[in-house]
Amino acid sequence: MERQPVVTIKNLNHYYGKGALKRQILHDINLEIYPGEIVIMTGPSGSGKTTLLSLIGGLRSVQEGSLTFLEEELYRASQKKLVSLRQKIGYIFQAHNLLGFLTARQNVQMAVEIKQSVSQYHAVNRSITMLQAVGLGNYINYYPENLSGGQKQRIAIARALVNNPPMVLADEPTAALDKQSGRDVVELMQRLAKEQGTSILLVTHDNRILDIADRIVEMEDGILLGDNHNVAVNN
Ligand code: ADP
Ligand code: MG
Repeated sequence: MERQPVVTIKNLNHYYGKGALKRQILHDINLEIYPGEIVIMTGPSGSGKTTLLSLIGGLRSVQEGSLTFLEEELYRASQKKLVSLRQKIGYIFQAHNLLGFLTARQNVQMAVEIKQSVSQYHAVNRSITMLQAVGLGNYINYYPENLSGGQKQRIAIARALVNNPPMVLADEPTAALDKQSGRDVVELMQRLAKEQGTSILLVTHDNRILDIADRIVEMEDGILLGDNHNVAVNN
Protein backbone atom coordinates (compact mmCIF):
# COMPACT_ATOMS: atom_id res chain seq x y z
CA MET A 1 0.00 0.00 0.00
CA GLU A 2 1.47 3.36 -1.04
CA ARG A 3 0.87 5.91 1.65
CA GLN A 4 2.83 9.04 2.46
CA PRO A 5 4.43 8.80 5.89
CA VAL A 6 3.46 11.45 8.42
CA VAL A 7 7.08 11.55 9.57
CA THR A 8 10.17 10.66 7.56
CA ILE A 9 13.56 10.81 9.25
CA LYS A 10 16.76 10.29 7.30
CA ASN A 11 20.31 10.22 8.60
CA LEU A 12 19.46 12.41 11.56
CA ASN A 13 22.25 13.32 14.00
CA HIS A 14 21.96 15.45 17.09
CA TYR A 15 24.51 16.96 19.46
CA TYR A 16 24.44 18.72 22.81
CA GLY A 17 27.15 21.05 24.03
CA LYS A 18 29.75 23.11 22.26
CA GLY A 19 33.45 22.84 21.53
CA ALA A 20 35.22 20.28 23.69
CA LEU A 21 31.94 19.51 25.47
CA LYS A 22 30.10 18.69 22.28
CA ARG A 23 28.58 15.25 22.52
CA GLN A 24 26.67 13.31 19.91
CA ILE A 25 23.32 12.11 21.28
CA LEU A 26 21.57 10.76 18.19
CA HIS A 27 23.41 8.74 15.55
CA ASP A 28 22.13 8.34 12.01
CA ILE A 29 18.46 7.91 12.89
CA ASN A 30 16.15 6.61 10.18
CA LEU A 31 12.44 6.20 10.81
CA GLU A 32 9.13 6.49 9.03
CA ILE A 33 5.76 6.71 10.72
CA TYR A 34 2.62 6.15 8.67
CA PRO A 35 -0.87 7.60 9.10
CA GLY A 36 -2.78 5.91 11.89
CA GLU A 37 0.22 3.87 12.97
CA ILE A 38 1.08 3.36 16.64
CA VAL A 39 4.84 3.11 17.12
CA ILE A 40 6.28 2.41 20.55
CA MET A 41 9.87 3.40 21.31
CA THR A 42 11.62 1.67 24.18
CA GLY A 43 15.17 2.00 25.45
CA PRO A 44 17.15 2.85 28.57
CA SER A 45 17.11 6.21 30.28
CA GLY A 46 19.53 8.62 28.64
CA SER A 47 19.50 6.85 25.27
CA GLY A 48 18.04 9.85 23.41
CA LYS A 49 14.30 9.11 23.21
CA THR A 50 13.07 12.46 24.49
CA THR A 51 15.57 14.27 22.29
CA LEU A 52 14.19 12.50 19.22
CA LEU A 53 10.60 13.29 20.25
CA SER A 54 11.43 16.95 20.75
CA LEU A 55 12.95 17.12 17.26
CA ILE A 56 9.92 15.48 15.65
CA GLY A 57 7.66 17.84 17.58
CA GLY A 58 9.50 20.94 16.38
CA LEU A 59 10.50 21.80 19.94
CA ARG A 60 14.17 21.78 18.92
CA SER A 61 15.89 22.60 15.64
CA VAL A 62 17.24 19.82 13.45
CA GLN A 63 21.04 20.14 13.28
CA GLU A 64 21.98 17.46 10.75
CA GLY A 65 20.05 15.19 8.45
CA SER A 66 16.49 15.33 7.26
CA LEU A 67 13.22 15.26 9.16
CA THR A 68 10.00 15.83 7.27
CA PHE A 69 6.57 16.16 8.81
CA LEU A 70 3.72 15.90 6.29
CA GLU A 71 6.23 16.62 3.55
CA GLU A 72 7.53 19.79 5.22
CA GLU A 73 11.31 19.68 5.79
CA LEU A 74 12.27 20.74 9.30
CA TYR A 75 16.00 21.02 8.66
CA ARG A 76 16.64 24.76 8.44
CA ALA A 77 12.92 25.43 8.82
CA SER A 78 11.90 28.92 9.94
CA GLN A 79 10.53 29.53 13.44
CA LYS A 80 7.21 30.26 11.78
CA LYS A 81 7.17 26.82 10.20
CA LEU A 82 8.06 25.19 13.52
CA VAL A 83 5.21 27.03 15.23
CA SER A 84 2.75 25.84 12.62
CA LEU A 85 4.12 22.27 12.95
CA ARG A 86 3.60 22.34 16.72
CA GLN A 87 -0.07 23.04 16.17
CA LYS A 88 -0.40 19.83 14.18
CA ILE A 89 0.88 17.68 17.03
CA GLY A 90 -0.67 16.57 20.28
CA TYR A 91 1.76 16.18 23.17
CA ILE A 92 1.36 13.94 26.19
CA PHE A 93 4.11 13.99 28.79
CA GLN A 94 4.98 11.88 31.80
CA ALA A 95 3.64 14.55 34.10
CA HIS A 96 0.28 15.63 32.79
CA ASN A 97 1.34 19.33 32.56
CA LEU A 98 -2.18 20.59 33.26
CA LEU A 99 -2.69 24.09 34.58
CA GLY A 100 -3.87 23.84 38.17
CA PHE A 101 -5.91 27.04 38.12
CA LEU A 102 -8.01 25.84 35.18
CA THR A 103 -10.73 23.19 35.27
CA ALA A 104 -10.58 20.04 33.18
CA ARG A 105 -12.68 21.72 30.51
CA GLN A 106 -10.64 24.92 30.51
CA ASN A 107 -7.40 22.95 30.17
CA VAL A 108 -8.72 21.19 27.07
CA GLN A 109 -10.39 24.31 25.73
CA MET A 110 -7.14 26.24 25.84
CA ALA A 111 -5.68 23.87 23.25
CA VAL A 112 -8.64 24.51 20.96
CA GLU A 113 -8.38 28.25 21.34
CA ILE A 114 -4.64 28.39 20.76
CA LYS A 115 -5.00 26.62 17.48
CA GLN A 116 -7.61 28.45 15.50
CA SER A 117 -10.19 31.16 15.54
CA VAL A 118 -13.11 29.05 16.66
CA SER A 119 -15.99 30.58 18.56
CA GLN A 120 -15.95 30.14 22.31
CA TYR A 121 -19.22 28.26 22.06
CA HIS A 122 -17.65 25.77 19.68
CA ALA A 123 -14.47 25.46 21.77
CA VAL A 124 -16.51 24.72 24.90
CA ASN A 125 -18.58 22.10 23.09
CA ARG A 126 -15.59 20.39 21.57
CA SER A 127 -13.81 20.29 24.90
CA ILE A 128 -16.81 18.76 26.63
CA THR A 129 -17.27 16.18 23.87
CA MET A 130 -13.62 15.23 24.13
CA LEU A 131 -13.76 14.90 27.92
CA GLN A 132 -16.81 12.67 27.53
CA ALA A 133 -14.85 10.57 25.02
CA VAL A 134 -12.12 9.96 27.61
CA GLY A 135 -14.70 9.03 30.24
CA LEU A 136 -14.60 12.27 32.22
CA GLY A 137 -18.07 13.56 31.44
CA ASN A 138 -18.80 13.85 35.15
CA TYR A 139 -15.61 15.77 35.94
CA ILE A 140 -15.73 18.60 33.43
CA ASN A 141 -15.63 21.35 36.05
CA TYR A 142 -13.14 19.69 38.39
CA TYR A 143 -9.73 21.17 39.06
CA PRO A 144 -6.75 18.84 38.48
CA GLU A 145 -5.89 18.67 42.20
CA ASN A 146 -9.20 16.93 42.87
CA LEU A 147 -8.60 14.21 40.31
CA SER A 148 -6.53 11.01 40.33
CA GLY A 149 -3.32 10.55 38.31
CA GLY A 150 -5.16 8.47 35.74
CA GLN A 151 -7.92 11.05 35.40
CA LYS A 152 -5.40 13.85 34.96
CA GLN A 153 -3.61 11.88 32.28
CA ARG A 154 -6.95 11.36 30.54
CA ILE A 155 -7.46 15.13 30.50
CA ALA A 156 -4.01 15.39 28.92
CA ILE A 157 -5.13 12.89 26.27
CA ALA A 158 -8.30 14.89 25.63
CA ARG A 159 -6.17 18.02 25.29
CA ALA A 160 -3.74 16.30 22.91
CA LEU A 161 -6.47 14.94 20.66
CA VAL A 162 -9.06 17.73 20.75
CA ASN A 163 -7.79 19.35 17.56
CA ASN A 164 -7.71 16.01 15.76
CA PRO A 165 -3.97 16.22 15.05
CA PRO A 166 -2.31 13.92 12.51
CA MET A 167 0.27 12.96 15.15
CA VAL A 168 0.50 12.48 18.91
CA LEU A 169 3.85 12.34 20.70
CA ALA A 170 3.65 10.69 24.11
CA ASP A 171 6.71 10.63 26.37
CA GLU A 172 6.32 7.96 29.07
CA PRO A 173 2.64 8.78 29.57
CA THR A 174 2.07 5.93 32.03
CA ALA A 175 5.22 6.39 34.13
CA ALA A 176 3.40 8.04 37.03
CA LEU A 177 0.39 5.72 36.96
CA ASP A 178 -0.43 2.42 38.60
CA LYS A 179 -0.69 -0.64 36.40
CA GLN A 180 -4.42 -0.54 35.73
CA SER A 181 -4.61 3.24 35.16
CA GLY A 182 -1.62 3.01 32.84
CA ARG A 183 -3.27 0.28 30.85
CA ASP A 184 -6.56 2.20 30.67
CA VAL A 185 -4.80 5.33 29.49
CA VAL A 186 -2.95 3.65 26.62
CA GLU A 187 -5.99 1.69 25.52
CA LEU A 188 -7.89 4.95 25.41
CA MET A 189 -5.14 6.55 23.32
CA GLN A 190 -5.16 3.55 21.02
CA ARG A 191 -8.93 3.65 20.53
CA LEU A 192 -9.11 7.39 19.90
CA ALA A 193 -6.11 7.31 17.59
CA LYS A 194 -7.65 4.54 15.50
CA GLU A 195 -10.97 6.38 15.36
CA GLN A 196 -9.33 9.62 14.28
CA GLY A 197 -6.58 8.11 12.09
CA THR A 198 -3.95 9.74 14.29
CA SER A 199 -0.39 8.39 14.34
CA ILE A 200 1.16 7.89 17.76
CA LEU A 201 4.80 7.75 18.75
CA LEU A 202 4.88 6.60 22.35
CA VAL A 203 7.97 6.27 24.50
CA THR A 204 7.69 3.78 27.33
CA HIS A 205 9.62 1.55 29.71
CA ASP A 206 6.43 -0.31 30.47
CA ASN A 207 6.59 -3.81 28.94
CA ARG A 208 2.96 -4.40 29.78
CA ILE A 209 1.68 -2.01 27.17
CA LEU A 210 3.82 -3.06 24.20
CA ASP A 211 0.95 -5.01 22.70
CA ILE A 212 -0.94 -1.86 21.72
CA ALA A 213 1.82 -1.03 19.20
CA ASP A 214 1.68 -1.71 15.50
CA ARG A 215 5.46 -1.56 15.57
CA ILE A 216 8.18 -1.32 18.20
CA VAL A 217 11.53 0.40 17.82
CA GLU A 218 14.31 0.51 20.36
CA MET A 219 16.75 3.30 21.15
CA GLU A 220 20.15 2.35 22.49
CA ASP A 221 22.93 4.89 23.00
CA GLY A 222 21.40 7.17 20.40
CA ILE A 223 21.06 4.43 17.79
CA LEU A 224 17.60 3.34 16.71
CA LEU A 225 17.47 -0.42 16.44
CA GLY A 226 15.17 -3.01 15.13
CA ASP A 227 12.59 -1.12 13.17
CA ASN A 228 9.92 -3.79 12.64
CA HIS A 229 11.14 -6.28 15.20
CA ASN A 230 8.46 -7.88 17.27
CA VAL A 231 7.33 -7.69 20.85
CA ALA A 232 9.06 -10.87 21.93
CA VAL A 233 12.49 -9.37 21.31
CA ASN A 234 11.83 -6.70 23.88
CA ASN A 235 10.65 -8.84 26.74
P1 ADP B 1 15.95 9.61 27.24
O1 ADP B 1 14.68 10.34 26.97
O2 ADP B 1 16.10 8.36 26.44
O3 ADP B 1 16.13 9.35 28.70
P2 ADP B 1 17.28 12.10 26.55
O4 ADP B 1 16.98 12.41 25.13
O5 ADP B 1 16.51 12.85 27.57
O6 ADP B 1 17.18 10.53 26.78
O7 ADP B 1 18.82 12.38 26.83
C1 ADP B 1 19.84 11.81 26.05
C2 ADP B 1 21.18 12.30 26.55
O8 ADP B 1 21.30 13.68 26.31
C3 ADP B 1 21.39 12.11 28.04
O9 ADP B 1 22.73 11.78 28.25
C4 ADP B 1 21.05 13.45 28.62
O10 ADP B 1 21.76 13.67 29.81
C5 ADP B 1 21.52 14.39 27.53
N1 ADP B 1 20.71 15.61 27.46
C6 ADP B 1 19.35 15.68 27.40
N2 ADP B 1 18.93 16.95 27.28
C7 ADP B 1 20.04 17.73 27.28
C8 ADP B 1 20.28 19.13 27.17
N3 ADP B 1 19.26 20.00 27.04
N4 ADP B 1 21.56 19.55 27.21
C9 ADP B 1 22.58 18.69 27.32
N5 ADP B 1 22.45 17.36 27.42
C10 ADP B 1 21.19 16.87 27.39
MG1 MG C 1 13.10 10.81 28.26
